[in-house]
Amino acid sequence: MAKRVDKDATAVRAVVEGEVQGVGFRDATVQRARRLGVMGWVRNGEDGEALVHAEGPEPAVEELVSFLREGPPAARVAGVKAESVKPEGHEQFAIRGVSAGAFVVQEHAATAHHFDLRLEVEGMMRSWAVPKGPSMDPAVKRLAVEVEDHSISHNEFEGAIGEGGVIVWDRGHYEQGGRVAWPEALERGHAVFVLHGEKLSGGFALQRTRPGEKPQWLLIKRRDEQARPGSDVVAERQQSVISGKRLDQLS
Ligand code: MN
Repeated sequence: MAKRVDKDATAVRAVVEGEVQGVGFRDATVQRARRLGVMGWVRNGEDGEALVHAEGPEPAVEELVSFLREGPPAARVAGVKAESVKPEGHEQFAIRGVSAGAFVVQEHAATAHHFDLRLEVEGMMRSWAVPKGPSMDPAVKRLAVEVEDHSISHNEFEGAIGEGGVIVWDRGHYEQGGRVAWPEALERGHAVFVLHGEKLSGGFALQRTRPGEKPQWLLIKRRDEQARPGSDVVAERQQSVISGKRLDQLS
């Protein structure tokens, strides 16, 4: 998908140090950014700091950086380090690093063996059938056929069904990523997210390659610290994260 970057946009990455976590800093930053028409994100860092990506018209970005130097009333900002970066084409101002909901991967022995990847979106589990299952290798692109939504209550289902069956192969929660807000990112056919599961972790992308009745997507691991080039997680870790059973051990 082409990035839509405004030529006149400016962008900064800022590290905000001080007492800035647990004091409403992220919410206040989102509110201010939205009022100013600034796009990007805010997230908590690992050492008590807040990290901000802000892009938009230069005066608006400057005004947001000024706000960061003060913060909301409960914050005590010790300092802001801001550096110019390239605009990335964000279309929202989001809080990063927070859960967007549950995810589950159910291995399913049916007529054709596959893995169902499900992501919680607006109270339902959006679902893709992935014949070969997910991969932690960024070089691997896995076909993912969009299938009907499932209810959240199905997430823990595991058991024999007729001659086949289902195990919960992985589960956890996910964060939304990318430059476009969900669910619009899914509607537009390019969705980036970060999984926090027992087997799957780090950034992934779903890229729609063929719309229509049964839309086809590719599921791709993004290159990050969690990526494991050359690995085959589906073969290496076959057991249910609930029962410890493999799919062929169900009865
Ligand atoms: Mn299925």
